[in-house]
Amino acid sequence: MFQYWKEIIFRDVENENETKKVSVILRLNAITMCIYFLCLFCAFFLLGRRWLAAWCVPCFCAFSGAFYTTYLNKTKLAVVVSHIIMVCWVVGFVWEFGWDCGAQHFIFVLVVLSFTVCYKGIVWKTAIGGLACALRLLLYVYTLLYEPNSFLGAGPSVVFQVINTTFIFVNISVILMVFTKDSQEMEQKLIQYNEKLHRLASIDPLTGLWNRRSMNGHLEKVAEDYRKRKVSCLSVAIGDIDYFKKVNDTYGHECGDLVLKSLASLFREHLGKYGEVSRWGGEEFLFAFSNRNGKEALRLLEEVREQIKQMEIAYQGKRIKVTMTFGLSEYDFQNSMDDMISDADRKLYQGKESGRDRIVC
Ligand code: GH3
Ligand code: MG
Ligand code: MG
Repeated sequence: MFQYWKEIIFRDVENENETKKVSVILRLNAITMCIYFLCLFCAFFLLGRRWLAAWCVPCFCAFSGAFYTTYLNKTKLAVVVSHIIMVCWVVGFVWEFGWDCGAQHFIFVLVVLSFTVCYKGIVWKTAIGGLACALRLLLYVYTLLYEPNSFLGAGPSVVFQVINTTFIFVNISVILMVFTKDSQEMEQKLIQYNEKLHRLASIDPLTGLWNRRSMNGHLEKVAEDYRKRKVSCLSVAIGDIDYFKKVNDTYGHECGDLVLKSLASLFREHLGKYGEVSRWGGEEFLFAFSNRNGKEALRLLEEVREQIKQMEIAYQGKRIKVTMTFGLSEYDFQNSMDDMISDADRKLYQGKESGRDRIVC
């Protein structure tokens, strides 16, 4: 049964120029209004107010007609028909039964319906809002000046208010649910897509560490933070795996990749909370320690160097061991960041020249 109605409501219009969403909103609005008049009819019939119940019959038929027009492959016609019926029944009920019948509240539904099915610009939407406001004020003034043709009485008034309130909320919620569904999903997808793009652009895919671009951005930010006195000092180190080419040549490139990943995990684990690590180049890593002077950074790196020395990487039954050489430089915030990185690089070279597996500062 549910599937049957779902298929009917979501049945697409054949014309490609017609929008499916507008038809669905109009159909749901028409169905809600038909159920509304059915409820009113039953309530008034049971209350013995046959005349009031009779008013619901043409309204029910009108909204059934509005429902039908949504399948005519002419969405604009369906929009116009739905609006005319909505305005007619609101005016008719207020004119006949006065302000107390509460039909004027359906003007809010009319506004929501207009804004969601109208793809025109801001001028049109402002005009629709203005007209709806004017209609409500006009009805109010009319009911102040003239007595209603039929008096509702206390009982039917309460029934009107309760059923009106319920259906206004149901109708507005249903319209907005359909209207916002796609845009919210799209927005969510866009956010996820942007996050993914950002991740792809800033993270090295092999090691999961920041890439050179992200680290450069970070260093710029640290320099800015120093100017704002948020950072007191900065130490930067470049580390390079010793004889890494030999690892590749002996065990293969796959094994070399495993070594890079293992080292990245080790850095994350031991240095993650003290500073930032990036994959600076092939088998080079750049470390940035904000608010740590050269001495403190040296102590941290010495610990890490020792950890690397002791680390055994299991690959195809073999245990691979590597060492690393580091060049460490403390930034004086006088020269450029590039000068500091060049200084660390020069010290790394010195470390390589003087036997590797060491830190030069
Ligand atoms: P040194 O101690 O002087 O640094 O010697 P080295 O062999 O490490 O230095 P070299 O610069 O000659 O070799 C670096 C090697 O790193 C060469 C290159 O094939 C390898 N390499 C760079 N990026 C990757 C990578 O992503 N995966 C693997 N497996 N190897 C890489
Ligand atoms: Mg190298
Ligand atoms: Mg190397």
